[in-house]
Amino acid sequence: MSNCIFCKIIDKKIPARIIYEDEHALAFEDVNPQAPVHALVIPKKHIPTIMDIGEEDGSLISHLITVANKIAKNKGIAERGFRIVTNCNPESGQTVYHIHLHILGGRRMHWPPG
Ligand code: AMP
Repeated sequence: MSNCIFCKIIDKKIPARIIYEDEHALAFEDVNPQAPVHALVIPKKHIPTIMDIGEEDGSLISHLITVANKIAKNKGIAERGFRIVTNCNPESGQTVYHIHLHILGGRRMHWPPG
């Protein structure tokens, strides 16, 4: 999608600190980290919100989780613990309408989340 910032990162039209890429997914460091480890995993397919995920996206979504797990392992937070967050629509705080998994770790996470 031409006006989507994450599609522009996928197309390498704007820079990002990319830490993983394959045919279907991309992961990069969040530009405004909320924890010592804060990466984003996105599908290359433009899906605006998790409400737009269809039955046909099942294997893609499970792939994103697999990528997130690899990143957690590579970043050394898999055993300590980490959090995966996906915001959906305005009240959750979603600001980029291309689905993404936030991978947050490297510090104690609080509950309930803010
Ligand atoms: P959300 O608010 O859940 O939609 O998350 C969007 C995330 O994307 C935020 O944590 C932003 O800091 C991050 N973000 C926005 N633009 C960029 C960018 N160009 N490169 C890396 N992260 C970004």
